[in-house]
Amino acid sequence: MQEPPADAPRAVKEYLDTLDEAAFGAASEVQPKFTSFSDPASQWTAARKGPAFFSYSDTYLIDTDHGVIVDVEATRSIRQAEVGSTKTMLKRVKDKFDLHPERLIADTAYGSGPMLDWLVKRKIAPHIPVFDKSGRNDGTWSRADFEWDAANNQYICPEGEALKQFRRNDSDPNRGPTGKGVAKYQALKHTCQACPSKMKCCPKADARKITRQEHEDARDVARAIRKTRQYKVSSKLRKKVEMLFAHLKRILGLGRLRLRGPCGANDEFLLAATAQNLRKPAKIFPAPQQTRKA
Ligand code: SF4
Repeated sequence: MQEPPADAPRAVKEYLDTLDEAAFGAASEVQPKFTSFSDPASQWTAARKGPAFFSYSDTYLIDTDHGVIVDVEATRSIRQAEVGSTKTMLKRVKDKFDLHPERLIADTAYGSGPMLDWLVKRKIAPHIPVFDKSGRNDGTWSRADFEWDAANNQYICPEGEALKQFRRNDSDPNRGPTGKGVAKYQALKHTCQACPSKMKCCPKADARKITRQEHEDARDVARAIRKTRQYKVSSKLRKKVEMLFAHLKRILGLGRLRLRGPCGANDEFLLAATAQNLRKPAKIFPAPQQTRKA
């Protein structure tokens, strides 16, 4: 890579330095639509439904008991970078404070298969809605209506029939529910043809087919957690981080950054989080009441 000119602005040098970092340049291979000349690491975004602008994202890892911010990460404002920063922060708090959370509470953006799989493998329960595109909008049964029978590597349809894994002779033997790629499951043609629920299941096909993604086991863990009472508690606890961001913008006025470049964003986010944390003991231990002498 060509070296930047010696008189290049600091934000431009930082942009080049972070091109291979997961939170910035390496987060996505998609070329940004526009690049800022004065701060090229910032992301052109219209995510907040208003006019587009250049921005950075601020991600917090907080403890839900007291709302203390335990880590902060500045990233590009794209989902892959924000989600990736969670992994960075979880690793960092483990190394620095030996903190290993029992569960992680987050919104749907964090519910992709690879992210859920990463958490489940580290024994962190994902209290996260699953990012799932398998739902159907034509009124027919979706994959969620079929029961997964892990012991027999098959799905069971609402009529109680089995959908077995479908393999071509020349297909990859690694391909499967626990291997890489997508596994395909199919009901028997003559069973579906005689089924009274065919119009609700597969009106246009001879037999019903279902795919199972690579990280479906982890998705199933998250779906099972969603049915628990603890998940409802977790959904309420998630508001604690939203409140911190609302305070950050409305009270601390961090809707706009004053410093440029990834380091500038990181420094401002870190200082703001420190200020927010310092308010905690001030709230828990209020100043003693002054008494007036007559
Ligand atoms: S159409 Fe086939 S897969 Fe669908 S419910 Fe009937 S038997 Fe089961």
